[in-house]
Amino acid sequence: MGNCLIIGAGGVGRVVAHKCAQIPEVFENVTLAGRTVSKCEAIAADVKRRTGRTIATEHVDAGDTAQLVKLMKRRRPDIVIHVALPYQDLSIMEACLQTGVHYLDTANYEPPDTAHFEYSWQWAYHDRFRQAGLMALLGSGFDPGVTNVFTAWVAKHALDEVRTLDIVDVNAGDHGKPFATNFNPEINIREVTAPCRHYENGIFHRTPPLSRHSRFTCPEGVGTFPVYRMYHEELESLVRNFPTLERAQFWMSFSDNYLKHLEVLQNVGMTRIDPIPFQGTEVVPLQFLKAVLPEPAGLGPDTRGKTCIGTIVGGTRDGEDRSVYVYNLCDHQDAYLEVGSQAVSYTTGVPATLGAKLMLEGTWMSPGVWNLEQFDPYPFMADLNHYGLPWNVQDPAEVSLEDE
Ligand code: NDP
Repeated sequence: MGNCLIIGAGGVGRVVAHKCAQIPEVFENVTLAGRTVSKCEAIAADVKRRTGRTIATEHVDAGDTAQLVKLMKRRRPDIVIHVALPYQDLSIMEACLQTGVHYLDTANYEPPDTAHFEYSWQWAYHDRFRQAGLMALLGSGFDPGVTNVFTAWVAKHALDEVRTLDIVDVNAGDHGKPFATNFNPEINIREVTAPCRHYENGIFHRTPPLSRHSRFTCPEGVGTFPVYRMYHEELESLVRNFPTLERAQFWMSFSDNYLKHLEVLQNVGMTRIDPIPFQGTEVVPLQFLKAVLPEPAGLGPDTRGKTCIGTIVGGTRDGEDRSVYVYNLCDHQDAYLEVGSQAVSYTTGVPATLGAKLMLEGTWMSPGVWNLEQFDPYPFMADLNHYGLPWNVQDPAEVSLEDE
C-alpha cells in the first residue's frame, strides 16, 4: 500500500519499526533513519529476527531540511513517521512539502530555547499542506493521540454534550533506576518543569509547576497513586475542537523518588535550558544531564508493572449528568517481549503506526494539518484493540480524582 520513512531511532522509533514490519500489507517498504546509524542498524537487526522483514537504515540530521529532502527523493516514502524530537517538526514538515510526502508526529513543535508548547507553529502550515494535497497528522502518540481519540469517541458515542475532561496518565511501573525518564529526558524534564496551564471557563489558567495534586485509584487493581496537574499539549486542540468543554485538565503520576531527584537537579541548575560558558565552550545544562541519564530505549529489560492512561469525560446524556472513563492498561514486560521496549515507548509507537496506517489506507486522509480528534474515532479505536492497545470503558465512570 505504501512506503514509510521513520525518523528517530530511540525508544519510540524501535516500536514503530517493529509495528510497521508487523503490518506488511500496509507498510510495504520501511526505512528507519536517525542521527546515529548504529542505533538504526541495531533496531533493524531486531526487527529481522522477530518478524523476518528487512528494513532499510539511513543517516539523517532531521534538523536539516536539505538533507531530509535528499533522503526523501532517494527513498520516495509516501509518509514520514517522525519520532525523533519536537525541535525537528518544522524542518521535517518543510521537507515533506518540498517532496510531496504525508507527515505524522507525536509531539508538538517547541523552540529549543524556550520550553513553550503550542500548536500555532504547526497549524500555520494548514493551507500549504492543503494546497499541496498533503496531510499532516499531529500528536499521534498516546497522550497526545489516543487521549484525543478517546475524548472524540465519548463525545460521539457516549454523551450528548461534553463539559469536563480529565486526562490521567499513571505509570505504575518501576525501572529500578535511581532516576530515569521513560521518554526522552530532555523533553520530559522541559515538560514537567514548565508552568501548569489548565482550561476553565473559556481561558487557560497558569499555576506553578506541579502545585496541585490528587489521588487516583486505577481500575483492575493497578493501585492508587498521587497524580499532579500539569500542562499537556492535547488540551489546546481539544478545547478548540470541543467548544462545549468548560474545564480540561491533565494529570500525571510521579514517584516520590522522581520528584526528589528533580527538585535537587532544579535547585542546582541542571535543568536550565540556556547555554552557560564552560571551559572555553558553551553547554546547555539540561542537554548535558540528558547525556548522562539512562536512555528510554534501554529501560525495557528491567521495567516491571503497568501503565494506565485514560480520559474521564463529564457531560450530559438524555438530560442527566454522566461521566465516562475510557482507558488502556499496558504491561511493560509484555511490551518488552513483543518489541524490546518498555510500555511508555510502546503506548506511543503503536498509535503512531496506526495513525500512519489509517492515512495510507485512505480512511483518515484529508489534505491539511489536523489533530486526531478531527477524524472519525471508530476505525482508530478498532485498530487499538487489534494491534496491542486494547481499551476498556466505565460508563458511568467508577474512578475519580480525590483531593489529598
Ligand atoms: P529517545 O531519546 O529515546 O529517542 C529520540 C531519538 O531521536 C534518538 O535516537 C535521537 O538520536 C534521535 N534524534 C534526535 N535528534 C535528531 C536529529 N536531529 N536527527 C535525527 N535523529 C535525531 O526518545 P523517545 O523515543 O522516548 O521519544 C521520541 C519522541 O516521542 C519525542 O519527541 C517524545 O516527545 C515523543 N513522545 C510522545 C509521547 C506521546 O504520547 N505523544 C510519549 C512519549 C514520547 P540519538 O540517539 O543520536 O541522540
